[in-house]
Amino acid sequence: MQVVKVDIDTATPLHPEAAILIIYTGGTVGMVFDEAEQHLVPFNFTQILDHVPELRQFHYLLTVLSIEPAIDSSNMGVADWLLLSRLIGENYESYDGFVVLHGTDTMAYSASAMSYLLENLQKPVIFTGAQVPIGRIRTDARENLITAVQIAATRQEGTSRVPEVCIYFRNLLLRGNRSKKVESSHFDAFKSDNYPPLAETGIEIDYNAEHVLPYPTRPFRAHGQLDDRVVVLKLFPGITAAVVQSILQTPELRGVVLETFGSGNAPTASWFLALLREALAKGIVILNVSQCDEGHVDQGRYETSKHLLDMGVVGGADITTEAAVSKLMYVLGLELSLVQTTELLRQNLRGEITI
Ligand code: ASP
Repeated sequence: MQVVKVDIDTATPLHPEAAILIIYTGGTVGMVFDEAEQHLVPFNFTQILDHVPELRQFHYLLTVLSIEPAIDSSNMGVADWLLLSRLIGENYESYDGFVVLHGTDTMAYSASAMSYLLENLQKPVIFTGAQVPIGRIRTDARENLITAVQIAATRQEGTSRVPEVCIYFRNLLLRGNRSKKVESSHFDAFKSDNYPPLAETGIEIDYNAEHVLPYPTRPFRAHGQLDDRVVVLKLFPGITAAVVQSILQTPELRGVVLETFGSGNAPTASWFLALLREALAKGIVILNVSQCDEGHVDQGRYETSKHLLDMGVVGGADITTEAAVSKLMYVLGLELSLVQTTELLRQNLRGEITI
């Protein structure tokens, strides 16, 4: 894998209003139709101005870092998240904002991971992508990219308007770690059920300033460590002891996102509770996340969640599974004591939960 740098020639290269770094990782957004091969292939990002000539009109300094070969987001992994954290960390002082072009399939996972890795972020990191490739006439890539760049460059009284990791898609700016991909056909691919949009775009970009994270006062830090020894265990009626046992007894396992029913409820069968207790006794951390898109985990409300609370399962409040995965990886990666790890998981670290 290599990172190729491309400078974009825009309207005022000598006196730019803002400097924006675009990181192209891959996904539909950067695909064109190859007539010879008769399928979609990633296009060479040095030709971006041929596809989005509007970029020339910006009075910004635009630089593209293109990750080659481009990654379909189903292949995104922890190493790619750490690379993104490093690229943003290394370029943090030189740019006013960052736009990450990414496949939509796992964008919510990557945006969540970046929200943890980039601590005390004072500048926008806007993820965007497209449902229709940039080389197609009806592409949504052009509008998504142009608006994401504009949002990344917007400042108010000298500071960025959205100093956080976001997803911009269609007409919504959403907090990254609150977002989910909900559509594979229509243009409105993302939603954030438990948190209002940070901005909505129409003729104007209307910011919901009261929902944006406060500007941090402590110094920025790009973290370089995640612990990937985690698993998502999604419960379903009829799940067997053999399945739960094989997952919880995965060698080296350190954390489990337990996807439960409703407000955090799970079976009360003795074999199930015994397997959970055994995992907890080994020091494995279990984070209870609801399968419902809306509402939150409230352990103890029903008998079917009271036992989870009593044995030390951590309630995930209204966190998404996408955010829970990287919250667990990030907190475990800090290598703290079990008590401190559990305590951090309960806290609202980056605006991912309402408590
Ligand atoms: N498979 C693509 C990806 O996530 C889909 C997309 O970009 O929309 O990389």
